[in-house]
Amino acid sequence: MELKLQLSAITREKFGCEPACCTDAQLYHALLALTQQQAAARPAPAGERKLYYFSAEFLMGKLLSNNLLALGLFEEVRALLEGMGRSLAALEEYEPEPSLGNGGLGRLAACFLDSIAALGLPGDGVGLNYHYGLFRQKFADRKQQEQPDPWIEPESWLLPAGKRYTVPFGGFALDAVLYDIAVPGAHTGIANRLHLFDVAEPADPPAEGIAFDKRDIPHCLTSFLYPDDSDRDGQLLRVYQQYFMVSAGAQMILEELADRGFAPDTLSDHVAIQINDTHPSMVIPELIRLLTTRGLSMEAAVAQVEKACAYTNHTILAEALEKWPVDYIETVAPQLVPIIRELDRLARRRSGDPRVAILDGEDRVHMAHMDIHYGHSVNGVAALHTEILKNSELKPFYDLYPEKFNNKTNGVTFRRWLEACDPALARWISARIGDGWKQDAAELEKLLPFAEDEASLTALLEVKQHNKRRLQQLLARRQGVEVDENSLFDIQVKRLHEYKRQQMNALWVIYKYLEIKAGRRPARPVTVLFGAKAAPAYTMAKYIIHLILCLQALCESDPEVRPWLRVVMVENYNVSWAEALIPACDISEQISLASKEASGTSNMKFMANGAVTLGTMDGANVEIAGLVGPENIYTFGASSDAVIDLYARGAYRSLDYYHRPAVERLVDFLLSPAMLALGDPAVLSSLWNDMKHKDWFMALLDVESYIEAKERALAGYEDRMAWARKMLVNIARSGYFSSDRTIAQYNTDIWHLS
Ligand SMILES: *Cc1c(COP(=O)(O)O)cnc(C)c1O
Repeated sequence: MELKLQLSAITREKFGCEPACCTDAQLYHALLALTQQQAAARPAPAGERKLYYFSAEFLMGKLLSNNLLALGLFEEVRALLEGMGRSLAALEEYEPEPSLGNGGLGRLAACFLDSIAALGLPGDGVGLNYHYGLFRQKFADRKQQEQPDPWIEPESWLLPAGKRYTVPFGGFALDAVLYDIAVPGAHTGIANRLHLFDVAEPADPPAEGIAFDKRDIPHCLTSFLYPDDSDRDGQLLRVYQQYFMVSAGAQMILEELADRGFAPDTLSDHVAIQINDTHPSMVIPELIRLLTTRGLSMEAAVAQVEKACAYTNHTILAEALEKWPVDYIETVAPQLVPIIRELDRLARRRSGDPRVAILDGEDRVHMAHMDIHYGHSVNGVAALHTEILKNSELKPFYDLYPEKFNNKTNGVTFRRWLEACDPALARWISARIGDGWKQDAAELEKLLPFAEDEASLTALLEVKQHNKRRLQQLLARRQGVEVDENSLFDIQVKRLHEYKRQQMNALWVIYKYLEIKAGRRPARPVTVLFGAKAAPAYTMAKYIIHLILCLQALCESDPEVRPWLRVVMVENYNVSWAEALIPACDISEQISLASKEASGTSNMKFMANGAVTLGTMDGANVEIAGLVGPENIYTFGASSDAVIDLYARGAYRSLDYYHRPAVERLVDFLLSPAMLALGDPAVLSSLWNDMKHKDWFMALLDVESYIEAKERALAGYEDRMAWARKMLVNIARSGYFSSDRTIAQYNTDIWHLS
C-alpha cells in the first residue's frame, strides 16, 4: 500500500480523521504505529550463529527518524509531511527519549545494534526495561537535582513479546516479562530486536526525587538504572538487577536454541554472547548452571560457555571493576555460588598467580576475572586502551592468555550521527562525492581533493553557521538563553567525571575571564557549552557542576565579560541534546587525563561533523590524531606513559603545580568574593582544597599546556579558510570511526556469525 494511504488508514482508525487534520502529537503516534508495522513485517536475518549482546545500558535516543531511515522511508515521509506544511522535527518533539542508558557505554551498545542490523547480521540486544531511567537532571540554586524520568507511554516503541521466564532468587522467584524494541537494518530488509526484561508489577514513580524502597525487589527491580549503591541494600539491588537480566536472557537463549532445533551441547556452534563491561558477567555461571540441568557435565558446560562468551573491557578505573562479596551472591542467587567456587578452583589450576584468581582473600568475586578465564576473547575499545590492558592493567592475564586479547576501536553509527542529525552537512557531502558514503563511510575520503576548493570550503562554513543558528534557536526555546551565533562554539559534553576534567575547562573559563577583566579580549567572543550529568552519589562531580553553573552566572552578570565570554550548561544532557550540539560545534573538548578515557565516542561524532579536536593523547584521540595529522588537531598534556609512571611512583603532588603563579590565581579564584557571592562557600572551598592538595586526575599538571593549546586553537579559528580545511580533513578521515567497521571486525575476529 502506498505510504500516504497507509498513514491515513492509521489516523482514521486511531483518531477518526485524515492526517491533515491531526495534531502533531497524533501524527507522531500514527507514524510510530506505521513504523512499527513496517519493522514487524521484516524477517530476522538468517545465520548459523546468532549474537546476543548483553548490556546493562542501551542509550537508544529517539527512534522515529532513525527507524524511518533504516526502513528507507525517511525521504518519503519527510516529503509527505512537508506537503502538509508539517515537519518531522516538530513531530519528534512529542517523542520521549528512552531513558535506558547513562553515557558512552550505553550509546555504544545502541550504535552497535544499529550496525549489526545494517550489516544484516543476526544479533539481538539483551537488557532491562528501566521505568524511570537514570534520572532527569534539573538545576536549582546552581546545583543538580535528580528526578525520575518516566519515558514509557501507553504507546511506545516497546512491544510485549508475549514471553516470560521465571528467575530463581534466594527465597523467592520473580517473573521476567519480555518487551522488544525492533531494530530495523538500513539497506538490508531485515530487523533484529532489543530484548528488555521487566518485572510484572512495576512500582509507581517515587513521590519526590529518586529515593525508593531498595528492598522492594519484586516491584522496584526495574525502576532505575544504576540505583544508588552507597549502601548494602543498593549494592544488593544491583546484583538482583544483574542476575535478573542474565538469568532471563540465558533462558531465552536456550529456548531459542531449542526452537531452532539444536541440542544444548551445541550451544557455542550457534550462539555468540558479548558481555558489555562486567554488569552481565553472571551470564557465565548461569549458563553453566542451566546447561548442567539440561544434562551436560560441568566440564562440557564450561567448554561450551567459554567458546560462546566474549568480554569487552571499558575502563581501567579501579572503582568501575566490579567485585561482589560472595555473600551477596549467596543472598541473590545461591545456586550460583558452588559454580563460581568451582570456576575459581579450575582457574587456579590454570594459573597459581593470585592476581588472576576469581575469588580474592576477602571472598569477593572479581567479575572481570571470571569473564577473562571463561570467555574466549577480551577486547579493549581503542588501540591505546588495549595496549594499557595488555601491558599493565591486565598484564598477568595477557601473559596467561595472549591469544584472547584483541582491540576493537569503538565507532558510532553515521546514520544517526551524520545523516540524521546533520542533514545540511549530509547534503554538502553528497553534492560532492555522491551517496556512496551512506553505505560505506570510508568513501568520505573522496572529499579530500575539495580541501583546495575555496567554494566548497565556503559552503562548508555556511553549513556550520546554519547548524549554529539551529542550536541557538533551540537554546533560546528550551533554556531561555540567547547565544551569539558569531561566537566560537567550544563544547564539552559527556558524563561528569573528574578524569574527564570538566574542572580543567572551568579553570580555562576563569583564565579567560581574568584576561578580559584585564582588558585583553579574545579576537572573537567564545561560548563555552557544557552538558553533563553527575552520578547522584558522586559528590565531587556534583561540586564541579556547581562550579560551572557559578561561572555561567558570573559571566552572564558582568557587562564587561558577557559580550566576550559566555558559559552555558544545558540541562539534562542526553542524545537529543547531543544531536543538536555536535553539528554546531567548532572546538571539541576531549581533555581527559591521558590513559583514563578508554576510547571516547563523542570525539568521533564531533570529528564527523566537522569540529576540530582539542584533546589529550588519550583513548581514540590518539587514532584521530594519526588520521588527520598534527595540523588538523590541537593536542596537549602529559602522555599516558608519563601519567602511568606518576601513579606507579605516587609522585604527583598537586601542591607543586598549584604554587606556579599562573595556576595559583586560577585555583584561588574559586574563593574570590565574586564566586563566594554566587555559590555555596562550603562546596567551593571543598573544590579548592581538593584541587590544591589532591587533584587525583591531575588537572593542575596539564592546565598550563591546555591554556596554551586552546589559545592556539582560538587563533587558528581566525584564519577561516585554513580552519575550513581542517574541518574538511576531519570529516574526510572520520570514516574509520563508523561502527559498521567496528562491527565487521567483531564479526570477523570474535563472533563469526556468517
Ligand atoms: C556519545 C555520547 C556519550 C559519550 O560521550 P564521551 O564524550 O565519549 O564520554 C555520552 N552521552 C551521550 C548522550 C552521547 O551521545
